[in-house]
Amino acid sequence: MIPCKQTAEHPLHWKKLFAKSYVGIKQISDNLPDNSISLDKLDKIDSLFPIQVSQQLLDDHPLDGPVLMQYLPSLQELADLPGYTHDPVGDVTATMQPGVIKKYNHRVLLITNNTCPIHCRYCFRKDFPYPQSNPNTHQFKQALEFCQRDESINEIILSGGDPLSLEDESLNQLFKDIEKIPHIKTIRLHTKFPSIFPQRITENLITTLAECTLNKVCVFHINHADEISQEFCDVVQKIKQTNTTTLNQSVLLKNVNDSADILIDLSNKLFAAGILPYYLHKLDLAKGTHHFKVSDTQAKKLHQQMKNNLPGYLVPRLAQEIPGESSKSY
Ligand code: SF4
Repeated sequence: MIPCKQTAEHPLHWKKLFAKSYVGIKQISDNLPDNSISLDKLDKIDSLFPIQVSQQLLDDHPLDGPVLMQYLPSLQELADLPGYTHDPVGDVTATMQPGVIKKYNHRVLLITNNTCPIHCRYCFRKDFPYPQSNPNTHQFKQALEFCQRDESINEIILSGGDPLSLEDESLNQLFKDIEKIPHIKTIRLHTKFPSIFPQRITENLITTLAECTLNKVCVFHINHADEISQEFCDVVQKIKQTNTTTLNQSVLLKNVNDSADILIDLSNKLFAAGILPYYLHKLDLAKGTHHFKVSDTQAKKLHQQMKNNLPGYLVPRLAQEIPGESSKSY
């Protein structure tokens, strides 16, 4: 993904704040626990997958804690291990036309843009060929024509990057264009913005959600309860008032959330914020992410402990995406 740290001045307030919020590599280097990565190694890591962390996160969380562990670079990213690939979930093979991914019956995923509010170091799409896969080249016209032609599709998933990286006007138009397709019943948004940059949830965005007559689902991406701030909870309430279903998907990550207590705490705090835990994903094996891997045996054990200590509606499904399969594996 292309980082936003160089974003030019923009009239929209949230974009200005967003662009100013990022810290440079030198500052990252100064902040790393024990200054363990030299600047040239950091440059190398950054060239493979740009480092993107906001000052706010550095101020709010301990450098070696479970939140920043997800976003600060590690030397281990430079290792090239067998089994770890550039396209771990088969996105490229499942691309029907630029930015349109269809893996499962009745739903398609649109890569709406290439920008995220932060770069998760375990990202499964870190090497996705965004330049060749931008459906926004023609304001999504061709992508939506694909959805129009295939009447078996009833749900469109807006992903990226992060769909909330689009400007409000573009999102509003996209929602309106999707609503015109008679067989589409549901729009789903996968977004990290509300937890990383809650200012993104503008009144215009809330109006777009409120005016949309389709089923709406918003899937957040939170891996640890320390990522749930009061500001995040406030914007979740605004989103819920638009009659949008709010879910969360997490990734099981070594040294971040690989403990039953942490996962149980996360489910309880998500519920208190009005969100149901949906998926607990096993790590997708993207290159340079092996240091986050939790073994399948350990994953099953942790999931069983969640089942033993939570009501069923707070136990996310332990899921893995295997390229070419017609559904996720549980
Ligand atoms: S939000 Fe999702 S797509 Fe963006 S960097 Fe994180 S894992 Fe990757």
